[in-house]
Amino acid sequence: MRQIAFYGKGGIGKSTTSQNTLAGMAQNGNRIMIVGCDPKADSTRLILNTKAQVTVLALAAERGSVEDIELEDVLLEGFEGIKCVESGGPEPGVGCAGRGIITSINFLEEEGAYEDLDFVSYDVLGDVVCGGFAMPIREGKAQEIYIVTSGEMMAMYAANNIARGVLKYAHTGGVRLGGLICNSRNVNREVNLIEELAERLNTQMIHFVPRSKQVQEAELRRMTCIQYSPDHEQSAEYRTLAKKIEENTKLTIPTPIDNDTLEELLINYGLLGSEEEYAKVREADEK
Ligand code: ADP
Ligand code: SF4
Ligand code: MG
Repeated sequence: MRQIAFYGKGGIGKSTTSQNTLAGMAQNGNRIMIVGCDPKADSTRLILNTKAQVTVLALAAERGSVEDIELEDVLLEGFEGIKCVESGGPEPGVGCAGRGIITSINFLEEEGAYEDLDFVSYDVLGDVVCGGFAMPIREGKAQEIYIVTSGEMMAMYAANNIARGVLKYAHTGGVRLGGLICNSRNVNREVNLIEELAERLNTQMIHFVPRSKQVQEAELRRMTCIQYSPDHEQSAEYRTLAKKIEENTKLTIPTPIDNDTLEELLINYGLLGSEEEYAKVREADEK
């Protein structure tokens, strides 16, 4: 069984990209379980074709503790038999989201949910790579990390931070970086930029996913593109990514870069404009 995880900045497309890709992997005969680890709890809705799944933490809170819940209360099967669980999050302002994730994973392990699977996939928020959100990496649960990014600065900044988190536990826990998935925002020279970032991080850009309205068309119907419009070219993109992940052997220890180098990269690709404009931004930052 391979334990993979999709990390990335909030809103970058982790849930959409992961569900579409996993749908493709399931069609190739893989037995898959998705464990949503984002308090937003929308990591499974396109697979289940539902609004929102009841989360482990919400149900545990309602009933008193995780001991009071059964696997079938929180594990549902969706498209192509994909098993779906949402960890959920703590009440805003109270408790640690990361600890909640580990509570959920431990519960699933104890209940035997990890048996007879080819892939477990975690969908994790990566704006803050705090101890909490690094839990699946720290505890050796997620072993193969895919970072969803775009050519936008904040997404790349988060990607580099996530690479730092992976590096931190690469030697102790054996976690590896599987690649960057560029989920396009139609930024200028985005392919080159992300390929260069990947090279700097000692990884690969495993796939470039184009931006397409079809993704939202399908999402409105609570479906992946793969289910809603299997013949659309966007579905073919996700199937290609599915195949690439299945066959991926380039698992590396990342080499994160410092923020100045990251900014230099953005300047080289013209994203921050001229040196003069850049100096102005810096000046404003320092004030
Ligand atoms: P995250 O899980 O990282 O917070 P989501 O997967 O929820 O992000 O995506 C945020 C929004 O971006 C969604 O409404 C989704 O439909 C849209 N989106 C994601 N990828 C694409 C794409 N390749 N083309 C068009 N829209 C996309
Ligand atoms: Fe939140 Fe992270 Fe702190 Fe946990 S470790 S409380 S998830 S910031
Ligand atoms: Mg999400």
